[in-house]
Amino acid sequence: MRYAETGFNLEVDLTRKNIVRVQSDPRDTELYLGGLGTNAKILWDRVPPEVDAFSPDNLLIFGAGLLCGTPATGCNRTIVSTISPQTKLMAFSMMGGFWAPELKYAGYDKVILRGKSPDLVYLWIHNDKVEIRDASHLAGKGSNETAQILRKELNQPKAQVVSIGLAGENRVYYASIEQGRSSASRGGIGAVMGDKKVKAIVVRGTGDINVAKPVEYLEQCNEVLEYIKWREDNPIPGVIPIFAVLGSPQEMAIHDEKWHTENFSWGNARLRRKDFWTEEVEKEWYDTLESARTRLISCYNCPLKCGATLSLPGLPTYMMKCFSKLTYTMATMSNLEFGLTIAQRATEHGLDGYSTPQVMAFALELYENGILTDDDMPGLPADNEEKFYWLLDQIVNRQGIGDALANGTYWAAKEIGKGAEEYAHNNIKKHEQLPLKLGMLNPIYYLMYCTGEKINITQIEGQFPQAPFPKREHREKFVKDWFQVPDDRFKQYFLDWELRGENSMPFYPTVPMVCDIVDWMERMHYIDDALGVCTGLSSFHLKPPYHIHNFPKFISAGAGIDMDEAKLTQATNRYRTLVRAINIRRGMRRKDERPPEDHWKKRFPELEAELLDAYYELKGWNKEGIPTQASLAELGLDYVSKDFIQRGIYADSESALSKEAPAENDQE
Ligand code: SF4
Repeated sequence: MRYAETGFNLEVDLTRKNIVRVQSDPRDTELYLGGLGTNAKILWDRVPPEVDAFSPDNLLIFGAGLLCGTPATGCNRTIVSTISPQTKLMAFSMMGGFWAPELKYAGYDKVILRGKSPDLVYLWIHNDKVEIRDASHLAGKGSNETAQILRKELNQPKAQVVSIGLAGENRVYYASIEQGRSSASRGGIGAVMGDKKVKAIVVRGTGDINVAKPVEYLEQCNEVLEYIKWREDNPIPGVIPIFAVLGSPQEMAIHDEKWHTENFSWGNARLRRKDFWTEEVEKEWYDTLESARTRLISCYNCPLKCGATLSLPGLPTYMMKCFSKLTYTMATMSNLEFGLTIAQRATEHGLDGYSTPQVMAFALELYENGILTDDDMPGLPADNEEKFYWLLDQIVNRQGIGDALANGTYWAAKEIGKGAEEYAHNNIKKHEQLPLKLGMLNPIYYLMYCTGEKINITQIEGQFPQAPFPKREHREKFVKDWFQVPDDRFKQYFLDWELRGENSMPFYPTVPMVCDIVDWMERMHYIDDALGVCTGLSSFHLKPPYHIHNFPKFISAGAGIDMDEAKLTQATNRYRTLVRAINIRRGMRRKDERPPEDHWKKRFPELEAELLDAYYELKGWNKEGIPTQASLAELGLDYVSKDFIQRGIYADSESALSKEAPAENDQE
């Protein structure tokens, strides 16, 4: 008997229109857990580096986390993994909502798509019955519209649907996969779904999931629920509101946007507006949100309400959560009403709410600086807000300049030339980042930005405070009930962290401490992504209900795998290293590991090099960021080093290390 997981994956060959239910190997679950971990193993085994994003041999894997569908609160994440058209590396993007538990109840842990359908299709999974069906009538339809049509056609109001919009169909590199209550947006995974000509996957499942030790498991679940309730009533004092409570940042419930609007950058991630948040703006934005928001909503099996349904005059209702509330407003330099209105259309098109506004603002910056001209943008309206609608339309249809812009700022700048690359200034590994421009280097964030392979800083950070508390007595109070730390040394790091003087940034926390902190934060995110736990109840928060001390109990009682903290750390290191190995095999090296060029004004090149060296060493990677043979052997990943040797990756890295500056390889 398999516990927590179903033990079966659905393999769908779109070229041959062949569907097979395949039993998975329980030893893989012990080694790589599930979700991201087993997705990474499948990509390593089956997608060699010669396969590009739009090859029929690329896989698009929808993996439910190991604990999804069990009674554990907030375990509802679908982890979508593939090769990204934008970064050319492994993409793994998560979505909450209801889809992953429904897939488990239908009897599957993963849906693995390979090949390409000649015509637009959708997949209908109804327990044991699985069909590839014609979707020609859905071509060009919006993502939510598609879900509604399919539920009606199938007469299945309870079915869960993932779908793409026009952006995915036209292979826009930052196309998302939408799910009504959530979306998987990073890495252009929607473009891969569009390339495979799959418009949607509809799931209805009515089965059960077994857990190994139900009594112990429910005790753990109840403890988590009680803690969530307690934390809601007792926010953490002294930290910014989004970290004081739990959940994805409660953007749809709050009105005070002073922190975001004055600290994040506007336009093409350039301009800080330090006195933006006035009483007048607050009143106007309050009225806008109150009249647009119909209700606050949750994901499957979660008492929190991080999202909201929005209804704007004359437009269909749609769902929004988190910082996408502000991204369109701030890129456009407009108001909240405009941001919420254009976001409705962008969501129907299926676009990443972080990248899309930046790409449009980038285009207008090029236009204002004469790099793009009226000849490149025939028909560009005069009105600022209309310009954004026009650009959105050009991008999702890949019309005119929209064809270049649809590839993201990095590739668009290369194609446009004439100095445009200077304006694509907010990328890491060729992907747009949060529009943040700050003063002094923060070594913790430096390492997370450089070495993160998830391409989204909010999905790396969380467990350690972002900044020191000014007074030691506050710090002492903070560490008192900080039981989530893996070791008490983290409390000491924080206690001794001062705003000014010897123990302040950038030289405190010291290099080994910074590495230790980043390693802890990253580990927690990777655990979430294998188990399917929402980071809003776990790794994104300072004192979350899920942590390194109770996760092993959940895995033991839930999946029946004998687990302790050391084994869990080892398993997490194993698939985290496998993600890196996939990317190393695809050409990622130290030169790619850097923050956006102008993220911090004040930089410390020597310290930065020391940080990278030390972190690489801690992780068992060489100076090029390549996992060493010894560290791979320790993790039972000898098959990776064998592959690296065969491909000459170690030999090439030795010769690169002996040269001063390796030439840039864009893997074009
Ligand atoms: S905390 Fe928020 S985002 Fe996370 S599962 Fe609950 S409702 Fe969804």
